[in-house]
Amino acid sequence: MNRYAVLSMDVEDWYHLDYFSGLSPERSSSLLDGLDVYLSLLERHSIRTTFFVLSELAERLGGTLRAMAAAGHEIASHGVAHKRPLKMTIDEFADDLRQSRATLEDVVQRSVEGFRAPCFSMDRPRLEEVRNAGYTYDSSRIDFTGHRLYGSLDVADFDAVSPGHSVQQGFHEFEVSTLPVLGKRLPVSAGGYLRIAPWAIMRPLIQTYVRSSPLYVLYIHPFELSPRPLPAAAAKLFFPQRLRFGLGRAGVARKLEKLVRLLKHDGFSFVTFRDLCQQSMGQA
Ligand SMILES: [Zn+2]
Repeated sequence: MNRYAVLSMDVEDWYHLDYFSGLSPERSSSLLDGLDVYLSLLERHSIRTTFFVLSELAERLGGTLRAMAAAGHEIASHGVAHKRPLKMTIDEFADDLRQSRATLEDVVQRSVEGFRAPCFSMDRPRLEEVRNAGYTYDSSRIDFTGHRLYGSLDVADFDAVSPGHSVQQGFHEFEVSTLPVLGKRLPVSAGGYLRIAPWAIMRPLIQTYVRSSPLYVLYIHPFELSPRPLPAAAAKLFFPQRLRFGLGRAGVARKLEKLVRLLKHDGFSFVTFRDLCQQSMGQA
């Protein structure tokens, strides 16, 4: 059995997080340098992966994005400015999809084929818009009811390529990984869980998941890997949010190293979502 891991990153800054949406925070500080920390980790392990990038950051990150694409990483879209699709009308969302794709393609000079919705905020009518806007795949599905912001996306009429990867008429859906534990689904894919939970807890959960699954999908963000202190606006958050936002950043790079070693040990190959789409079309 071929086994694949996509260590995807959603490239956004700290102020794009939903926690800050009502606070209009001052944006002069940035935690985007966590992207460099991640890129050097990937380079050390010769890993190529997919980055879902907000197009409003594309100009600022232009040179970095072009270097990433030249190094074999895939640049995909995370929308324009991290507006949740379920908060937009269908027409607004269609514009967001087209605009973000055009901007990213313009900056990177490569085709943009994938989309991931901010906060996994996605439903079936909006998924059809992703397809209509010319994308080849979407990765906005998570089977996790414990988070109030996430949408619910039904793709039961798609054909399963493998658990977590389904396809319909050449359009693919990728689910980020969750593990059923005691009637709940734990996101063993979430950088946030990796950051906050001790490795002694995450390791057996991830091991249980990967031993029975041919596809492991991680999603992580630059702020989780930035060595900089939290921005002043974090002090305005309620305590549980502040904890969730800020905890464990110092240790997450070490845990990622352990995660990569675990996946390598279990025979996983590291790929982009685009690789998986092309490969499954080759099999069809
Ligand atoms: Zn996001």
